[in-house]
Amino acid sequence: MNNRMTLELPSLSENGPFARDTVAAFCARLDPSLDELSDVKTAVSEAVTNCIVHAYPNAPGTVRIECAAERGALHIRIIDYGRGIADVARALEPFYTTLESEERSGMGFTIMQAFMTDFSVRSEEGKGTTVCMRKVFARGAASPAAESAAEGGAGEKRDAGATDAASSSPQTEAPRGKVADAR
Ligand code: ATP
Ligand code: MG
Repeated sequence: MNNRMTLELPSLSENGPFARDTVAAFCARLDPSLDELSDVKTAVSEAVTNCIVHAYPNAPGTVRIECAAERGALHIRIIDYGRGIADVARALEPFYTTLESEERSGMGFTIMQAFMTDFSVRSEEGKGTTVCMRKVFARGAASPAAESAAEGGAGEKRDAGATDAASSSPQTEAPRGKVADAR
């Protein structure tokens, strides 16, 4: 089976770097380039920061991070059970923010979309938000060793792959593609 990891943390600002570095350590065996690793770390930081500042504005709540390694790619889901997003399509627009007073730039989702191979968000007001991302690593995907590098795990049957989540929540797929010089 493919390797996987689940991490649950309270949405405290000091947990942002820990989440980012833990995901980076998880995907190291997929042989990412430094640039690819940096892309993943940035995307995870942005998603976890959103949980901290937007999902739970008043008191900390749970942030769940699910990772799966498969054939030279990292699948990652970042889940919160917080406030949710009323209009996901709007939230994905560059420079859209509901926290202008805190001088946020509204570029977090745009950056995630630009830095990852696949990206989607689904959210329901009052129930929470799930960000699904996938990053293909060029060297890992090309290498025959990639599959064995991704192997491991404790043998549980449930597949934590980030692309097959069953949910009744509405889903908005963002278009793929790079945004030059996003931040
Ligand atoms: P920046 O990321 O540049 O600091 P930002 O967080 O406002 O600014 P995005 O990350 O693109 O920008 O998010 C856009 C908007 O989507 C946010 O302003 C917020 O209204 C909403 N949002 C994003 N993530 C969540 C979440 N997990 N829960 C609730 N609302 C969210
Ligand atoms: Mg943000």
